[in-house]
Amino acid sequence: MSLPQNTTVLIVGAGPTGLASALSLIHHGFKDFVIVDAVVEGDNSSRAIVVHAATLEALDMIGCGDELVSKGTKMTSVNFDTQTGALSRLPFDSLEPYTRHPYALVIPQTFTEYVLGQKAADLGITVHRPHKVVGMKVSAVDTDLADITFEDGQVVTTRYVIAADGARSTIRTIAGIGFVDPKDSPEHDSTTLVQLVPADVTFDNPKLNISNLSGVMSANTYFFSVPLPFTFNEYLSRKTGKFIEDRIVRIACGVPVGEGPVPQAPSKAYIQNLIDKFDPLYLSSDPSANPSGKGVCIKEVIWSSRELLSSSLATAAHIHSPVGGQGMNLGLRDAVFLGEVLAKHVKVTESKPLSEADQILTDFAAERRTRALKVIGFTKSLLSVGGTKDAVVAWWLPISKVTLRDWVLWMVGKVYYLQRRVMWNFSGLGRR
Ligand SMILES: Cc1cc2nc3c(=O)[nH]c(=O)nc-3n(C[C@H](O)[C@H](O)[C@H](O)COP(=O)(O)OP(=O)(O)OC[C@H]3O[C@@H](n4cnc5c(N)ncnc54)[C@H](O)[C@@H]3O)c2cc1C
Repeated sequence: MSLPQNTTVLIVGAGPTGLASALSLIHHGFKDFVIVDAVVEGDNSSRAIVVHAATLEALDMIGCGDELVSKGTKMTSVNFDTQTGALSRLPFDSLEPYTRHPYALVIPQTFTEYVLGQKAADLGITVHRPHKVVGMKVSAVDTDLADITFEDGQVVTTRYVIAADGARSTIRTIAGIGFVDPKDSPEHDSTTLVQLVPADVTFDNPKLNISNLSGVMSANTYFFSVPLPFTFNEYLSRKTGKFIEDRIVRIACGVPVGEGPVPQAPSKAYIQNLIDKFDPLYLSSDPSANPSGKGVCIKEVIWSSRELLSSSLATAAHIHSPVGGQGMNLGLRDAVFLGEVLAKHVKVTESKPLSEADQILTDFAAERRTRALKVIGFTKSLLSVGGTKDAVVAWWLPISKVTLRDWVLWMVGKVYYLQRRVMWNFSGLGRR
């Protein structure tokens, strides 16, 4: 299919951020854009599974929040446990005075993309697929324009490019924009965690009661689990023709360096071993360790992956460790606010020179970078809590850092002010 030869804005990538950019532009009355994606259809896998309050509020602004909420499950608390017992319960209801979404919405990324895609289609937006961008250069006709080249030889001339083409962005690479772990975000050297295994699994005990977002803290690592909504089972059934009856549970386990390299798509046996080592004992496959006297085993691995627990920041683009589920959330908020700013920039350039109008974009980039730095700092802090080393605090305080960490988590659960601060940080409301 042929692409338009000219446009004002070219959005490269129709993942969550590309779609949200398109919806935001339309919402702000701007229609002269084209959105393209390299692949025929989006990925089926769950990937990012939590949408926080600040992101839902941003999506409300472009008319997508409620639809998303209807497809997900509202998690009312984050629970921290050890392998043998409870440490703290941190309820989201402390956010009630500040937002209409006092919860974390658990919804597989594929649904988030589906809802945004449907909304875009309803508004008459066509995602042009498959069209892969391979080149970008200043236009020979007008130096304020760029010629974007596609794999099939087509060229689109545009005034603005939104690089929503993911972590390995072609546009960012061609533009020569650096993408490194920011030195101006806090460093935490108290963890040996460098990799994480996320997986969607079912268990062979249908009565297993896994509810809410739950983190099990142990020495050197943490284990996270959350049930996914049954709407995901229905979605997978429509896509694959196979219906999964059991509740699908997202698990994620930080893998300490000592465990060796993580395989690319960890197997059932590999994940079972992580569960037996790091999850609460009621999920152990070993009957002698499981308090119920019966072992619980993984029945099926629906999806598994490995991720580096590292961070990168460009002028405004960012990658951070998935701990705390912040990455896609910030990307969506960036996109929603970019739509407004870009529409404004286009309007202002009708009456003012580019050099003057560009301050709008410069200010926006600086503001979003500040937020990205804060989020990276927050995820690094969470990572250092999750991967606290089993080492002595200091000669004058000869207790394990793990014991101290668990004590602090217990304390946070007892003090309302501390609970509210933690939940405020998770929700993103302080850094919309
Ligand atoms: C395996 C995996 C597991 C993840 N797990 C989690 C998780 O547990 N929690 C979490 O918060 N986040 C997770 N993430 C990250 C989350 O998926 C991202 O934050 C989110 O996808 C970012 O959205 P995006 O729209 O910016 O980019 P993407 O979703 O990557 O979308 C980019 C789009 O651009 C298109 N594209 C790329 N290059 C080109 C090109 N040259 N021309 C045209 N189109 C192009 C792609 O086809 C794609 O559709 C995971 C990611 C992966 C890959």
